[in-house]
Amino acid sequence: MEYEPIIGMEVHIELATESKMFCGCAANHFNVSPNIHTCPVCLGLPGALPVPNRKAIRWCVMMGLAFNSSVASLSKFDRKHYFYPDLPKGYQISQYDTPFCSDGHLLIKTSKGEKRVGINRVHMEEDTAKLMHKKVKGEKVSLIDFNRSGVPLVEIVSEPDLHSSEEAVSYLKKIQQIIRYLEVSDCDMEKGSMRCEANISLRKKGEEELPDYRVEVKNLNSFKFVRDATNYELERQKEILKQGKKPRQETRGFNPKKACTFPQRFKEMAHDYRYFPEPDIPPISWSREEVKKIKAELPELPDEKIERFQKEYGVGEYNARILTDTKEAALYFEEAAKAGEKAGVSPGKIAKIIVNKRKDVENLSPRKLVEEISEEEKEKITDEEKLKKLAVRVLEENPEAVSDYKEGKKESLGFLIGQIMEKTQGKAEGEAAKKVIQEELKNF
Ligand code: ZN
Ligand code: MN
Repeated sequence: MEYEPIIGMEVHIELATESKMFCGCAANHFNVSPNIHTCPVCLGLPGALPVPNRKAIRWCVMMGLAFNSSVASLSKFDRKHYFYPDLPKGYQISQYDTPFCSDGHLLIKTSKGEKRVGINRVHMEEDTAKLMHKKVKGEKVSLIDFNRSGVPLVEIVSEPDLHSSEEAVSYLKKIQQIIRYLEVSDCDMEKGSMRCEANISLRKKGEEELPDYRVEVKNLNSFKFVRDATNYELERQKEILKQGKKPRQETRGFNPKKACTFPQRFKEMAHDYRYFPEPDIPPISWSREEVKKIKAELPELPDEKIERFQKEYGVGEYNARILTDTKEAALYFEEAAKAGEKAGVSPGKIAKIIVNKRKDVENLSPRKLVEEISEEEKEKITDEEKLKKLAVRVLEENPEAVSDYKEGKKESLGFLIGQIMEKTQGKAEGEAAKKVIQEELKNF
């Protein structure tokens, strides 16, 4: 029996706003003393009233638009109830049936080509406090740091469109890349500003319906852990299904050392949370004009950049993809291309040198990079007569490679060009050397 993996992703992104989601406390909670950014609102004291962070909501909508979602004209916040010591109110302010954004999608790259992944929703909520389990005076204690309590959190829920751990990782990388382009979060998985949960199940190949169970794996704080946990979980579930049983609907943790998952608790159902509208925050509405304005403010995103780089600079798709990996890298290339225009160095050449790491780009300004390339160009041997003489000598010295080439072994050409490079300490201009060797081979 063959099984098909069905994977959906839930991603939580901590926004890099100055202040928290519903109070004026500083949102930064990394490398600060515990419990210094707190107030009655984020400590959950009775009677304290939340005031939503306008910028955070705008950023949430920006993210939704970047993921091709539609923005709800009317949204509200809801209370999601559960008990845990890091949640002093006894509920999290989140969104239930009216998320800010829904029905989006992303295109991801996999080894099988491009793939569309649906994004069910993008909604706004708040982070919880942080529990720390420590030993104080020889006693095991749990401490709570409320600096993180109430930090703006955006949740992105995909459709169960992912069918392998490779696709899952590729999807997460794309999410991370786009959010970094938007500059609304650093999306650091290790630090926890990007947190991933995978919903994993299997169905028999050829079946149309979604499986009637799913296992949620939490705390996957690196791409490698996502891959390992998913692969482990798929194997585990396959074994259970093979025995004619059904895996339990539950939440599991991940042990990175053993690369395995372990049961944590039974999965809650939505009705367990007793969602109801947050009475202390009025509903939020968007006019079409406002949404248009936010859309217009979106920066050029990776996919658009890849296309433009191909058109504007004649760079191949593969190189364009690498050059646009980060916004900074893309900016670097464009500045170098501009400098290259003046110095007569083609963007294609600059792209190749950056992509193949032939220069220490980290320590060179775009201008300096172009200067160095142009200096080397000047030193290159392009003189055809000179190259011709060299080519003839190379062919005479390597009769075996020549006959190999004539018998159809095209890779011999690379070897022969390499010989010219050796004779000139790499100073022969590559294209010219290739041309001359090919010419000479004809009448040899
Ligand atoms: Zn506060
Ligand atoms: Mn959530």
